[in-house]
Amino acid sequence: MVNAPSPKLSAPLEQGVPPRVRFCPSPTGNPHVGLVRTALFNWAFARHHQGTLVFRIEDTDAARDSEESYGQLLDSMRWLGLDWDEGPETGGPHAPYRQSQRMDLYKDVAEKLLAAGYAYPCYCTTEELDARRDAARAAGKPSGYDGHCRDLGDEQKAAYEAEGRTSIVRFRMPDEAITFTDLVRGDITVQPENVPDYGIVRANGAPLYTLVNPVDDALMEITHVLRGEDLLSSTPRQIALYRALIELGIAKDTPAFGHLPYVMGEGNKKLSKRDPQASLNLYRERGFLPEGLINYLSLLGWSIAEDRDIFGRDELVAAFDIADVNANPARFDLKKAEHINAEHLRMLDVKTFTEACGPWLKAPFAPWAPEAFDAEQFAEIAPHAQTRVTVLSDITANVDFLFLDEPVHDEASWTKAMKEGSDALLVTARAELTAAEWNAEALKTAVLTAGEKHGLKLGKAQAPVRVAVTGRTVGLPLFESLEILGREKTIARIDAALAKLAA
Ligand code: GLU
Ligand code: ZN
Repeated sequence: MVNAPSPKLSAPLEQGVPPRVRFCPSPTGNPHVGLVRTALFNWAFARHHQGTLVFRIEDTDAARDSEESYGQLLDSMRWLGLDWDEGPETGGPHAPYRQSQRMDLYKDVAEKLLAAGYAYPCYCTTEELDARRDAARAAGKPSGYDGHCRDLGDEQKAAYEAEGRTSIVRFRMPDEAITFTDLVRGDITVQPENVPDYGIVRANGAPLYTLVNPVDDALMEITHVLRGEDLLSSTPRQIALYRALIELGIAKDTPAFGHLPYVMGEGNKKLSKRDPQASLNLYRERGFLPEGLINYLSLLGWSIAEDRDIFGRDELVAAFDIADVNANPARFDLKKAEHINAEHLRMLDVKTFTEACGPWLKAPFAPWAPEAFDAEQFAEIAPHAQTRVTVLSDITANVDFLFLDEPVHDEASWTKAMKEGSDALLVTARAELTAAEWNAEALKTAVLTAGEKHGLKLGKAQAPVRVAVTGRTVGLPLFESLEILGREKTIARIDAALAKLAA
């Protein structure tokens, strides 16, 4: 009855059938990098093979799921440009795509599994399970569920129920090894003693992930399951369940599985959801471009070519092959993510860059009064910023000198730039700048000339000027900045610095 012959793993690609993949997060907490990487690989795989990406919400855990998290998931996918073909708000032939709205389906399948003997009610209490597990451990035996309720007779069941016991539904694992070919890891065989019978429905009737996830994959005709390595251990159980579903006419074929490598964070530990570096919202707030983040995240376990790490979405889709995914853990490298993002910022046309800066030029990011912002001035400075910022949020501090009444006074910069003789230099520079024509070239000559008069090279001469005018020792090209700021404000700021030095 139970041990169905192993069906061949589906190979729809070889048969030229477009694949159906799914991204099926649970709406708990904020979206994180690991989740996005999974979504991205499924999306790239679907788009590369002109297949279908199903977006399914696994919200069967009412205690942990939230509408806020659900909203964030949709918003994040849209921000990243990872479009789905079937799913929430889009609909599709297998709607609804939220598991909380599919409870009747799971109940029906659980009943069929029970009726056909693929599953059975288990009456063991937690205490009994714990006690037997401890005893098995002490005896050096496998400590998973021992099959106690596998073959209970009707009388025994009735007796348990008369005692007031409740039962969970447990899936009966076949007594045979399960072998499958992981698309990333190759052949994997798991022995039956390592996969005990497992619960699929709670005593209160609530179906578990172990049931709803493969049932939906079956009903939604998923051909390829690409997901994190942490779920590898559930795959033999799901394959066994699939075989039962095929026998029952509920599933057509077992999907192929590919387990994406772990992402390691600081100290070579698995990047955890709670790790601040893992929060997608953080990257959005810092002003990563979706293109930059997608480029970077695609490199967590995959590469386009040995000598290339900057590429666009279309190139990713054209090149993506699940067979090229590396089984070794991937290392999350923030510096590299920033570098890649910076490259994507450079590739934007100036107008797009200028517009993309928008949110960081307003409250709550911008420290200047809203009416102080001058779009024309910003448009002038933007090209200079575009070649220098790493993330869009860098823009605020780089241009604040234009829109604040007084520059930010960064004490460390002040101490560093204002040395003995800086006042004399500033007096000379003020005179040269006052006499100069107001364009970057002439302003440079003015500061150069002032420096020469004090035996200073350009670099040393421009430092006090920069700090006087912008507040900081580093920033956008100085003479272009002065040109855009204008003569009047520049001279006034030098005067203010001189007054501060004199005090
Ligand atoms: N809802 C599950 C999770 O977020 C999906 C796991 C899977 O891809 O099978 O972990
Ligand atoms: Zn039991």
